[in-house]
Amino acid sequence: MFQPKQIHLGSGVFLIASLSCYADGPDGAAADSCAKLAVQVANAGAPPATLAQAQAETTRIFREARIVIEWEEYRVSQRAAGCPVRLIVSILPHATVSASDMALGSSGSVVHSLVFLDRIEELARTSGSTVVILGHAMAHEIGHLLMGPAHSEIGLMRPRWDRGDIKTAARGRLRFTPAQTEALRARVAQRADEAGLRAGRAAGMMKQ
Ligand SMILES: [Zn+2]
Repeated sequence: MFQPKQIHLGSGVFLIASLSCYADGPDGAAADSCAKLAVQVANAGAPPATLAQAQAETTRIFREARIVIEWEEYRVSQRAAGCPVRLIVSILPHATVSASDMALGSSGSVVHSLVFLDRIEELARTSGSTVVILGHAMAHEIGHLLMGPAHSEIGLMRPRWDRGDIKTAARGRLRFTPAQTEALRARVAQRADEAGLRAGRAAGMMKQ
């Protein structure tokens, strides 16, 4: 399980992504039913170009779930304007010792996931590209942060991806299911409400 204080991220590039939770509806009309969500990506292993392309994959996957991702440069003290909910994905060069066999990542809390670059590159050597697998692994782990540890028998949230899944991913067709899409949007809105309540209470305390 994830233990943040024991993770050493080295001197990798740190980025923040703000996940803006508005999206165009099926008819192209803006659907502003979802609050904004910030995702912080701590990269300690992926080449910048690889990460950028993988982020584009993750962005596309969430856009198909009607959630738009906007990536921003990380600032330690930065508060993502308008993004009260913040998640973290750490890209580690090697799987943690507690990682299960073949796991590409781990989500042991509701805010912080790990993605293991060595496992991803190993899978890519036989079944696809690092960019595609990394992008989908980040999307899968963000899915866990929002929906919990459960997996599904089909789609992006399968517990393990076989070669067919990787081929499907490469074609851009390894997705969240419709039910998962609705769950994602509901959880983002719920967390935004919770964060807004916390912020409101904090502001009230500061005025006293
Ligand atoms: Zn999983």
